[in-house]
Amino acid sequence: MSADIDCRFTIIGAGLAGALLATLLAKRGWQVDVYEKRGDPRIAGYAGGRSINLALAERGLHALRSADADAAVLQRAVMMRGRMVHFADGTQRLQRYGKDDSEVIWSVSRGELNIALIDAAESAGARLHFDRRLEAVDFDALTVRFIDDRDGASSQVDFVALLGADGAGSALRAAMGARADLGERFEPLGHSYKELEIPPAADGSFRIEPNALHIWPRGNYMCIALPNDEKTFTVTLFLPNEGDPGFDTVRNGAQARALFERDFADAVPLVPCLEDDFERNPAGLLATLYLDRWHINGCAVLLGDAAHAMVPFHGQGMNCAFEDCVALAAHLDREGDLSLAFAAFEAERRPNALAIQAMALENYLEMRSRVDDADYLLQRELELQLAQRYPRRFVPRYTMVTFRRLPYAVALERGRVQRELLVDATRGRDTLDGLDWDWIDAEVRKRLTVLETEH
Ligand SMILES: Cc1cc2nc3c(=O)[nH]c(=O)nc-3n(C[C@H](O)[C@H](O)[C@H](O)COP(=O)(O)OP(=O)(O)OC[C@H]3O[C@@H](n4cnc5c(N)ncnc54)[C@H](O)[C@@H]3O)c2cc1C
Repeated sequence: MSADIDCRFTIIGAGLAGALLATLLAKRGWQVDVYEKRGDPRIAGYAGGRSINLALAERGLHALRSADADAAVLQRAVMMRGRMVHFADGTQRLQRYGKDDSEVIWSVSRGELNIALIDAAESAGARLHFDRRLEAVDFDALTVRFIDDRDGASSQVDFVALLGADGAGSALRAAMGARADLGERFEPLGHSYKELEIPPAADGSFRIEPNALHIWPRGNYMCIALPNDEKTFTVTLFLPNEGDPGFDTVRNGAQARALFERDFADAVPLVPCLEDDFERNPAGLLATLYLDRWHINGCAVLLGDAAHAMVPFHGQGMNCAFEDCVALAAHLDREGDLSLAFAAFEAERRPNALAIQAMALENYLEMRSRVDDADYLLQRELELQLAQRYPRRFVPRYTMVTFRRLPYAVALERGRVQRELLVDATRGRDTLDGLDWDWIDAEVRKRLTVLETEH
């Protein structure tokens, strides 16, 4: 973007994507103002929102590196090597995510991450305005109106370009939708979640293996637990909205305890405040948001959850939102005109958002019902062997999504081809002994091209 074009940016939302985008744009010397509906979390304390902690993977880390924010974030992150699966019979098994400790994910606190990014944005020169909730946009006069929810005061500012990082319930998206048909479709999953806590042990240490993402898969529902640096775990119970069990039948603390005693027995002693946590914490809804269009000419563009909220089962919503920030900053750098930059951003990112949304939905099924299934475990065993035998051709889909940065759409397509191959090679078998390796080698070469090294 040439310096003589008036490219002042007005970012809506100082959440994860908004604060990172502000940093990237301010570092390029552009004027950046960020408006956030909540108070400054550094003064008022972090007001929460969605999950308490999140899994940070390579795509997100790469984006943080480009904002020089990775070191501050990793300092307090907890490494997770794999899934610790808690089977119904009380046994546990660690399923590694990657080949070794170079392929791990990180559990980070949403509040700490958001504060680190707000600090980074301010240091880079962005101006942050808290307690400013976007209320209305006038696309003809190029003005926006904000409300301070503490006293109802209203303020108005003019803008050149609005960048919408105001999350799944985006007010900017609603304003854009009133102006042009964005083709919005919201698909609820029919399942919701509730958070509970595993406190530290009496000696102050973690109560269960800290370097893992714990999963209790139970078919149509599940629990997971991610570690926090203060030696606690945040447990998330995912249940259908209706059914047995479902949030319509498990409605209070006593019913939650009965469910845990029946289905998550080894977790019961770990969650001493089960009833209180269950009754105090709200159930969060899960849904996928699809839009045909993310921008209005050179005036406004959406990114992150505002453009493509997804279900959380691949742990990629934030990672994808961070990738959006890097991509949008690069398109703004490259193009001489805002509408071209927004169009190029949407053309690059929309197919990839659709791909990770699809993979996130598929992963729910995998986490809650396949990680303890014999066919799945046999296919996974072969997958690991093929990944070693063909490191540049056969890369497990989870690895492509989590530890590499190749486009999500490529990961989805190659993952489909690989899955078919694993199913074909293991059909009717219960062990890998006696596999026809000549056939498998020929099929791998025929079906999968060599991946570029930078991927
Ligand atoms: C249970 C759960 C677990 C998850 N786990 C993971 C995970 O492990 N890994 C991962 O990568 N992702 C995960 N995600 C997804 C991740 O939380 C989101 O993708 C991410 O928060 C998106 O960032 P964002 O900045 O686009 O939106 P948000 O983080 O929602 O930020 C939006 C910001 O805009 C502000 N805002 C809203 N409305 C207005 C307004 N009108 N005016 C001004 N400001 C406004 C909000 O206050 C907020 O600060 C999870 C999500 C859930 C629900």
